[in-house]
Amino acid sequence: MTVSKNIIRADVRALSAYHVPDASGFVKLDAMENPYTLSPELQQELGRRLGSAALNRYPVPTYANLKAAICAKQGVPSGWDVVLGNGSDELISIVSVACAKPGAKVLAPVPGFVMYAMSAQFAGLDFIGVPLNNDLTLNLPAMLAAVREHRPAITYLAYPNNPTGNLFDAQAMLEIIREVGDTGLVIVDEAYQPFAGDSFMSKLPEFENLIVMRTVSKLGLAGIRLGYMSASKALLAEFDKVRPPYNINVLTEVTAAFMLEHTEVLDKQAAAIRSEREQLLSRLADVAGVEAFPSAANFILFRVTQAGLTGTQVFERLLEHKVLVKNAGKMHALLDNCLRVTVSTPAENALFLTALKSSLYS
Ligand SMILES: *Cc1c(COP(=O)(O)O)cnc(C)c1O
Repeated sequence: MTVSKNIIRADVRALSAYHVPDASGFVKLDAMENPYTLSPELQQELGRRLGSAALNRYPVPTYANLKAAICAKQGVPSGWDVVLGNGSDELISIVSVACAKPGAKVLAPVPGFVMYAMSAQFAGLDFIGVPLNNDLTLNLPAMLAAVREHRPAITYLAYPNNPTGNLFDAQAMLEIIREVGDTGLVIVDEAYQPFAGDSFMSKLPEFENLIVMRTVSKLGLAGIRLGYMSASKALLAEFDKVRPPYNINVLTEVTAAFMLEHTEVLDKQAAAIRSEREQLLSRLADVAGVEAFPSAANFILFRVTQAGLTGTQVFERLLEHKVLVKNAGKMHALLDNCLRVTVSTPAENALFLTALKSSLYS
C-alpha cells in the first residue's frame, strides 16, 4: 500500500480499471464482436499452420510479408506502407508517446472512443473533447474553433464513430484535416470500416498529416489483437521507432496471413452483419419507447424514451433476461438513457428484441 502510494502516479491511482463485465451465460452484445466463427475445414487448416509456426524464434520484426499482404488486400494506396499494432489500442498508444512533447494536446469529438483520452493521459498529453451536436453529428464550427485555439498534435475522428455508430460528414472531416494542416496529425479511425461502405484510405496521398487506422477486431478477429495504420513514409518511420520490436506475436502473424488468403470468408460475414443491421434498425423503428440512431457500424445506439423508465433500468432488465448490452448513458451527457447493442446473428438479434420489448412493457 505504502509503496504503491509512494511510487505510482496520483492520476493513475485515481483511475478505475477498464471494466470488462463477466459475460458467461449471457447473450454477449456489448463489445462489437463478430458472432460468426470459421468453418471446421478452415479451423483445421489454420490449426496445421499454427502447429508448424516457429514458436522458438522471435518474430521477424519487420513483418514485411504480413504488411505487404495487408497493403495488397485492404486498399492501402500503392506506395504506402503500414505499421502494425497489438490491436489498434497499441497504435493509439504509440502515436501518443511519439507526439508527447511538453504541452502537446489531443483533440477528439465526444462521446468517442475512450482510449483516445486514456492514451493521451498515460503519455502526458492534455485531452480536449469537443461535444457532438445533440443529434450526434459532428459540430464542425466547434471542432474548427478548438483546432485554432489548441493546435492539437493529434486529432481523432472515428469513421464511423463509437459509441454513436454514425459516419461523420466526410466534407466536414476534410475541412478539419485542412485546418490542422502541418501543425498536427489527424487520425481517421476506421475500426468499423467493413460495415461502413466508405473510407479515407484513398485520401492518404492528398494529406501529409493524415493517418488511417484500422483493426481486424470488429471484422471477426478480436482474439488475435491486430491493428494497422497507414500514413506518409516519414511518419511511419518515426512511429516504428516507438513500436516495441516484437509487438505482433507469431501466432497472430500466422493467423492474420491465413485469413488474408481467405478474405472472402470475412467479407461474407460482414455482409451478413450489414444486412442484419438494416433488419434490426427497421425492427427497432417499430418498437414504441425506443429511438434508434442511424448506424454504419456493427452496433446500434438507441435511446429509451418510454415514460417512467430509464436506460439503466432497461439495461438491468435486459441483464435479467441474460442479454448483455452496453449502458452508454454513463459515457456522456449527450447519451442520456442510451444503450448500445452489437448486431449479431438473426437468432441473437431476435432474442434481444424479445427481451427488449418485455423490458420496456412489463
Ligand atoms: C474497438 C475499437 C478500437 C480498438 O480496436 P482493437 O484493435 O481491438 O484495439 C479502436 N477504435 C475504435 C473506434 C473502436 O471501437
